[in-house]
Amino acid sequence: MENKRNNPYRKDFPLLDCDPVIYLDNAATAQRPGCVIEAEKTFYEQHNANPMRGFYRLSVSATEKYESARKTVQELIHAESPEEIIFTRNTTESLNLTAYSYGLQYLKAGDEILVSVMEHHSNLLPWQMVARQTNARLKFLECLPDGRITEEQLQEGFSDRTRLVAIAHISNVFGRVNPIKRIVSMARERGAAVVLDAAQSVPHIPVDVKELGVDFLAFSGHKLLGPMGIGVLYGRRELLEKMPPFLTGGEMIQSVTRTGAVFAELPYKFEAGTVNAAGAAGLEAAIHYMKKVGYEEIHRRETELTSQALSGLKKIPHVHVIGSDLPEEHAGILTFTIDGVHPHDISAILDGDGIAVRAGHHCAQPLMQHLGISSSARASFSFYNTENEVSAFLKSVEGIRRKMGYGDEPIL
Ligand code: PMP
Repeated sequence: MENKRNNPYRKDFPLLDCDPVIYLDNAATAQRPGCVIEAEKTFYEQHNANPMRGFYRLSVSATEKYESARKTVQELIHAESPEEIIFTRNTTESLNLTAYSYGLQYLKAGDEILVSVMEHHSNLLPWQMVARQTNARLKFLECLPDGRITEEQLQEGFSDRTRLVAIAHISNVFGRVNPIKRIVSMARERGAAVVLDAAQSVPHIPVDVKELGVDFLAFSGHKLLGPMGIGVLYGRRELLEKMPPFLTGGEMIQSVTRTGAVFAELPYKFEAGTVNAAGAAGLEAAIHYMKKVGYEEIHRRETELTSQALSGLKKIPHVHVIGSDLPEEHAGILTFTIDGVHPHDISAILDGDGIAVRAGHHCAQPLMQHLGISSSARASFSFYNTENEVSAFLKSVEGIRRKMGYGDEPIL
């Protein structure tokens, strides 16, 4: 059985190496390998100056680090050019940028915005705002209780008025990959734009924006082993070029007069103010590290751990796992409920055993309502977790109802 010692990646993660925590909240944020922490430190120790501002050596070096990170992101998601990569703070900011700069500009009364019922609030509230301000109609794409979106549901969701689809590549509750290619093809038939929330996919599966055919794609560095405070928006050049800036101020202009301004070229038009260059350097290190591990290895390890956890949870009475029966359809995410136990109690009891899992609505309240629950617990695994950790998790879950005072009899 694999333990801390013989997982080859464990030693790369300083926190995991010195803290006994069994960290199973990787879908919320990943742990950072030492090379990412070092890359941020190196930026401040060796390259620190305000990028894009100075003509002196240090500022040029800071700019080069920042632009090198942009190129690395471009290659990771197979974008056509680095100008299509905008650095933001996180997925939430990337989606808001799209909603404010594209949504408000190009949607109008009577148009339909299609969002799925499983969206994270980050990919719902910006579209609620756009619908309110433009009088476009916000429509929901439904899903089955196990997270599948059927062809019928797609046919019901789309109409001749669909002008924008905003959908998660992988939901942070189900962990299942959504049928994006089919959605893109239905959107194309209607001339609708597709905004993909890739916060939970880029850390787990190879993503190719050209192959998927999406118009916008958003993800966060911190779920991808990278630093907090750095995120990415990919946008198709043709669309980005015609969109107005989201934020205005320094760094995003060519020239300014008392009454107006000429905006900078892509991608700078969308990067107002001093950028997070150290974060970008950290993200670049994270991507290099992830590529060295490889998506195949990540998928293999995560599926093995998920398989062990899923079959273990299924054997525990009163535990209900949300989503697919197949471990490979979970992207390392297992969301579950226990009869008669509030998810906050699940998390608190697991924490008592040194295990960190998430509890709550996972920023997906409409989905919780759709599933007829108010909240749930979520364990999410990464390639640096071990079989021993999953066994400890299962043992702890097994004891939860007893600790809550339930006997062995089924509750009504
Ligand atoms: N979308 C999904 C699917 C997510 O899982 C998350 C993070 N929980 C977000 C968006 C928001 O990411 P961030 O908080 O980094 O902006």
